Amino acid sequence: MEKEVVSRNFIEQEIDKDLREGVYTEVCTRFPPEPNGYLHIGHAKSILLNYGLAKQYGGTFHLRYDDTNPTKEKDEFVDAIESDVRWLGADFEGQLYHASDYFEKMYEAAVTLIKKGKAFVCDLTAEEIRSYRGTLTEPGKESPYRGRSIEENLDLFERMKNGEFPDGSKVLRAKIDMASPNINMRDPVIYRVAHLSHQHTGDAWCIYPMYDFAHPLEDAFEGITHSICTLEFEDHRPLYDWVVREVGFDMPPRQIEFAKLYLTNVVTGKRYIKKLVEDGVVDGWDDPRLVTIAALRRRGYTPESIQKFVELCGVSKAQSSTDYAMLEYCIRDDLKLKVPRMMAVLDPIRLVIDNYPEGQIEELDVPNNQENESLGMRKIPFGRELYIEREDFMEEPPRKYFRLFPGNEVRLMNAYFVKCTGFEKDENGNIATVHCTYDPASRGGNSPDGRKVKGTIHWVAAETAKQVTCRLYENLIDEEKGVYNEEDGSMNIRPDSLTVKENCFVEPALAEAKPYDSFQFVRNGFFCVDAKLSEPGKPVFGRIVALKSSFKLPAQPTA
Ligand code: ATP
Ligand code: MG
Repeated sequence: MEKEVVSRNFIEQEIDKDLREGVYTEVCTRFPPEPNGYLHIGHAKSILLNYGLAKQYGGTFHLRYDDTNPTKEKDEFVDAIESDVRWLGADFEGQLYHASDYFEKMYEAAVTLIKKGKAFVCDLTAEEIRSYRGTLTEPGKESPYRGRSIEENLDLFERMKNGEFPDGSKVLRAKIDMASPNINMRDPVIYRVAHLSHQHTGDAWCIYPMYDFAHPLEDAFEGITHSICTLEFEDHRPLYDWVVREVGFDMPPRQIEFAKLYLTNVVTGKRYIKKLVEDGVVDGWDDPRLVTIAALRRRGYTPESIQKFVELCGVSKAQSSTDYAMLEYCIRDDLKLKVPRMMAVLDPIRLVIDNYPEGQIEELDVPNNQENESLGMRKIPFGRELYIEREDFMEEPPRKYFRLFPGNEVRLMNAYFVKCTGFEKDENGNIATVHCTYDPASRGGNSPDGRKVKGTIHWVAAETAKQVTCRLYENLIDEEKGVYNEEDGSMNIRPDSLTVKENCFVEPALAEAKPYDSFQFVRNGFFCVDAKLSEPGKPVFGRIVALKSSFKLPAQPTA
């Protein structure tokens, strides 16, 4: 009998228990972004986690804009969020919601609290409220307005809604317990006056609910059963449960917290990414050096690679930081067999084959991916003059250098054996041209007589090659210093994270590559056509990731 391997994470275990005990009969999860920026890799984790749970339990997944704060939200962000979530593969068809659509119901919920004597209008200033709140070790002090009658509160709250009071002059507060050891329970503000237009509701409202009041109600209104969020909301859970129960729901959604995803030496906070965009350090929210979903997509990451990454990360209650190399591992692994392996020379010098017929171009048949026959074959032109990488020739080679140097023979990948016979330098003393002779009997790169060569180098035929731009990326952050500068909270940005190479030569077929097409450029890494910078017939290639890494997958728990 096959042994069943069951290793359920702590979230699944809680859901299993709820279903077993009949607390809920089905599962409904959600991803609730605030449309105040682009989504990043941390959000991807939350999206795929929530979507995956809904799918696994045959339940429903909602995408809900948590758009209750009119100050920072923008349509641009709303559009980007939808396309990012869809691209990741989380299907929210028919399940798209706006928290702002609940403003009326939230208002009614607040009135319910007032009628139960559980909320009051307070005239203290923001600063006074703060100083009355107390500290972790000292209880808070009750507001002098706490004893207002229900009638007075109802009247004032309605007038707040009608626009009779200026911003900041009055708030509605829950009446809970100023002595609670949990500061969130000390009569938190639940509504404020703000004469602001909202991107979704326009000028319909001049009072807006606070996050801690709105958020649990949104989940309750939608029948969310499992409200999965990050650890910083753990202390808010008692307040969320209080709000939902006092408003009249029997069973608040079960909130389960997990640790945020952080990547070592990578900027993930929305606020910081925004700063990089505003300061022009990057060319937009989708700059390929960022880890927004839009950036990862532009860089050439696939939804599958991000799904795999999230799966490998797992969920945890303990805060930790994941190595960026794991993300790189995932995209390499995903593209390895999927994309063609082609030749591109990023730092070219000329190689002239002096015994090859002048003017002749022949076509060689090469497999698109040696490890995946189903990608088929292609023809590549070969001629007398080629481009090779500058680093593949050395005038005076060190030991163990097996590439081209005077007198040495190497294999031109998929083509012929060539033997170096000489070289020429330009006026600055740099190598300009290398000369060689070829062995016609070694066609296809096969040894004609059993003689061996130790080096294989790639090339493109000069006459037919296309000149293109390639962009190489390094970490934006100076890894020696870490992301944040301790003194002033600024970021430690290194100046050389982008290298633009305009004089690269690629196989002619690559001139037709379309945005988001990906390739392995042999020996140089995986590259993707940059959707923002490319023009028809003029692709710009960005390096997704180099081929090699010292990264090892962490040991996976085995059962
Ligand atoms: P940031 O901290 O980057 O500004 P946020 O938490 O303010 O993000 P929201 O739009 O409020 O962004 O988040 C939507 C959802 O994504 C929330 O449920 C939040 O807990 C989750 N989330 C945000 N950052 C991460 C992260 N790094 N890892 C996992 N989940 C995250
Ligand atoms: Mg937030």
